[in-house]
Parts: sequence; structure tokens; C-alpha cells
Amino acid sequence: MVNNQSFINRDHKVLWHPCSQMKDHESFPIIPIKQGHGVWLEDFDGKRYLDAISSWWVNLFGHANPIINAALKDQLDKLEHVIFAGFSHQAGIELAEQLVAITPKGLSKCFYADNGSAAVEVALKMSFHYWRNSGQTQKTQFITLENSYHGETLGALAVGNVALYKETYAPLLMDVISVPGPDCYFREDGESWQDYSERRFALMEQALQHHAGSVCAVIIEPLVQCAGNMRMYDAIYLKLLRAACDKYGVHLIADEIAVGFGRTGTLFACEQAAISPDFLCLSKGLTGGYLPLSAVMTTDNIYQAFYDDYHKLTAFLHSHSYTGNALACRAALTTIGIFQQQAVIKNNKHLANTMAKAAQRFNEHPHIAEVRQTGMILALEMVKNKHTKQPYPWQERRGVKVYQYALSLGVLLRPLGNVIYFMPPYIITEEQLFHIADVALQAINFAVQD
Ligand SMILES: *Cc1c(COP(=O)(O)O)cnc(C)c1O
Repeated sequence: MVNNQSFINRDHKVLWHPCSQMKDHESFPIIPIKQGHGVWLEDFDGKRYLDAISSWWVNLFGHANPIINAALKDQLDKLEHVIFAGFSHQAGIELAEQLVAITPKGLSKCFYADNGSAAVEVALKMSFHYWRNSGQTQKTQFITLENSYHGETLGALAVGNVALYKETYAPLLMDVISVPGPDCYFREDGESWQDYSERRFALMEQALQHHAGSVCAVIIEPLVQCAGNMRMYDAIYLKLLRAACDKYGVHLIADEIAVGFGRTGTLFACEQAAISPDFLCLSKGLTGGYLPLSAVMTTDNIYQAFYDDYHKLTAFLHSHSYTGNALACRAALTTIGIFQQQAVIKNNKHLANTMAKAAQRFNEHPHIAEVRQTGMILALEMVKNKHTKQPYPWQERRGVKVYQYALSLGVLLRPLGNVIYFMPPYIITEEQLFHIADVALQAINFAVQD
């Protein structure tokens, strides 16, 4: 018989899932999804789940989106993939043209990879290699922020700073310079985001002053540290950082893998500080949540440092088998087309306002220390004591209780520790946003009992 249980039995025999303690699934089975439609996912028992986290922040315009589906069907009959060294294709060229046009000015070259971590690896290697090609071989280090996340491969993990993912592998990772960040959860009572972010920048300035000679780049997640519990900060920090990187001769890598494509209220988060990074990493929403693809946008100046006769050995030889996959490029091109045709950024302003209204009920909740929002990301910090911000012991796994209870009510909310967040696809309705908040409130009230 085809139902959830039959798939669960087969799944548990052969599969090892990401970001999971598989033993948890003895008591809480994995959910086999039969089909998706818009914001909804449906399992093999016919139960539906509202995807309030865009399937790990990738889905922008719904599951089985008819526009993207049609484009992919067309692409499939033309070209699925071709080696991207020595060869090119229409979707890859057009996507690069679009990305150059819509990303902050000065980013005129596009290098493809096939997932977010790989894009971070590319940016790190390119920055290092640029300085090397320029005769500055003493530049070998990177500056990163506390609580940052840039992916799971060893280089990306090294420049990230979330202990849960990093600590186990510490002996394998390159040393980085880790600077206390602008995370506004820790601002003083009455202090504005801007004042706090500006004040915290002094620590970055010190690090740059001290280490610039040996540093290739500073890598940051603009405005929201997503995997680091959806912690947020003010755009002033990015402005100051851009100026300081110029002053000290250090690259700025903006990892917009999670926040790019409209998540923060603008198409790219860097726009809110009116800055251009030297490297911009994109993935997740890039293909509308359809296919793995990433891009590193960079400047002509950086590109030129690699451009020379072959025997000088200055070329950037990094590659992936699936670099610039044609289907993925076509999905991305179509996704960007939707932004242009449907006034998405403008409509998202209404949705973000509605999300704020729907979440007002949490302001006075005795176990929510903060309700924070940047554009289409809204996060609730669930704590033991609202006034002291004392967290729940992590072993109590209250966030998991929220997750499981919300699922039973048909909403997919997968918290980060004890931070519950809404990061829905942009096709969500106002009514559905209120529904998510209703369910989140019930789930939180369940999770904070005793
Ligand atoms: C998800 C994420 C990555 C890693 O992307 P993957 O495709 O999961 O490897 C890197 N940086 C940020 C900010 C992310 O959110």
C-alpha cells in the first residue's frame, strides 16, 4: 500500500538525512512528501503542511510554480547540461547578463558553482588568489563575524562561527580572525539598532587596523545572520565596513546566499547600505528553490588580475562538474523574470507589514524575549525568562516541541534552536500569514509548559 508508513519504512532502511540525529526519527518519523503546490506540501497520507520556511529558505514563488515548470520543460528538450569549460549556453549567458544588471554596481563578472558552500569557497579562493597574483603573498587570512554561517564544507565552515556546526571539526579548519558582531539582540535597553551596530563596528575597525596586512577579505552576511538564529543588525555596519575595507586594502565578501532575492525587503541586502562588495555570493533563492546553483559576482578589477598568458599560471582553475548547469540557469533566469513581471519587491512590503501585524501578539508573550523583523524574515526569540533573556537549557529542546506541534497542525516551522521564525514563499497570502502566527502561538504555548 502507498501511504506514509510504507515510505517511512523504506526511508529509514537506506537514508541518512542532513542536519539530523537519525535516532530522533525512531520517535518522530521523517515525513515523505508526495507533492507540492504553492505554499503547500502534501504527504502520502494526504495531510498538508504550509511551508512557512520556504523549504530551508530556497523557495520564493511556491512549489510546482507553473511559470518555472513551463520554462524547465522547454529547457529539458533543448539542453540539460554541458561541460562549462570551453563551452557555454544560452541560459547561462542570459542569467549572467541579468545578474550583472540587477546586482549592485561594479559587479560585472559572474562565476558559477553549484551550491552555496561552493560559492563561499570560490569567493575565499578568488580573494586569496587575487592578492597572490598581485604579488601580495602575505595575505592569507580572513576576518569573520561571531555567530556567522557560511556553509558546511571545510573552508566555508572555517569562516563560519556557529559552534554547533563548527566545534567538532575544529582540528580540520584553517584559522580565522573572529570579530564580535553587530547582533542587535544584545543592544542595551533603549539603544537603537543603528547606534548599537555603529558602536560594535569599532571592534571590526580594530581588527582591520591590526591585521589588514595579512588579511585577504572580510566575509559577512549582510543584515541577517540567518543560520545564527536569525540575528539582525543595521545597514550602517555595512556602510562602515565597506569604507574600512577600502581604507585598509581588504576585500569585502557579501554572502547573500540566504538574504538575496528580496528576503530583506530589497532585492539584495547590500542595497540598503548603498554598497557594492568585491564578491557577492548567491544561491538558495537564485533558482526559486528548484535546482542547486550558485553564483559569485565580482568586479572587473579582480577578473583582470587572473587574465594573462597561460604559462604565467594565474588562472582560476576551480571547477565543479555541474558548474553552470543549464536547467538550473534556466530556472534562475525564469525566477528573475518573475521579479520583473510581478512587482514582487513592492508586494512583499505589504506582506512584511502583515507579518508584523500577525506577530504583534508575541510582543507581550511571557516567553518571547524579542520579536524582530527584516523584510520577509520574522523571528521570535523563545526564552525561559523574558526580562533577563535567560535562555532555556538547550537540552530541553523546546524548539523541537514547537516544530512537532506545529507540524501536527499542518504548518512547517523548523526553528533554529529556540528561535522560531517565519520565512515564507512570496506567494503567501495575508490570511495564511495570520494562520502561521496562530499555529506558532499554540505551538509555543505547548512547548513552554512546565
Ligand atoms: C545556506 C547558506 C550557505 C550554504 O549554502 P548551501 O547551499 O547550503 O551549501 C552559505 N551561507 C549562508 C548565509 C547560508 O544561509
